[in-house]
Amino acid sequence: MSENTELYNLAAQRLNEFMKGKITRKTPERFEILRVVCQTQGIFSIDELQEEMEKKAKFQVSRVTLFNTLKLLEEAKLVIKHTLSRAAHYECCVTPHPMVCLVCEQCGLVRKLESSKIENWLSEQKCKHFAVTQPVLYFHGLCRSCMVKNSIKKRKANSKTKIQKK
Ligand SMILES: [Zn+2]
Repeated sequence: MSENTELYNLAAQRLNEFMKGKITRKTPERFEILRVVCQTQGIFSIDELQEEMEKKAKFQVSRVTLFNTLKLLEEAKLVIKHTLSRAAHYECCVTPHPMVCLVCEQCGLVRKLESSKIENWLSEQKCKHFAVTQPVLYFHGLCRSCMVKNSIKKRKANSKTKIQKK
């Protein structure tokens, strides 16, 4: 059994328990979305999940279904929602672990920084009168492609002013 199947089985069991006594129906689409979420590495947007669903899933699901299911998975604590940039980003967190995220303030890209040093530090942090369930640290800044775009723009602007001066 692969690690992803184990993760999915655990997640599906938790989702079943969460939905007990709730009015929401246990549709096969929801579990299919959960399966794809469990296979997805790192942070993803709804658009990226929709792409993955088209590639991997047995069902075609609408954006509305994806959005509502992610909301349900978030309530069931199976997914974490990062609401920092223009579009919300999600991440599978069936087994919570400390994470460090890089957020580009220009294009809205959110990606994970793999740093066991910071992750270890995060997991060791204790807060007075506060029980930490999910330690997340965000670094805001500029991504590589935005830095490149900006320097090209700057160079173009500089050469224009030089031409105007001549
Ligand atoms: Zn960027």
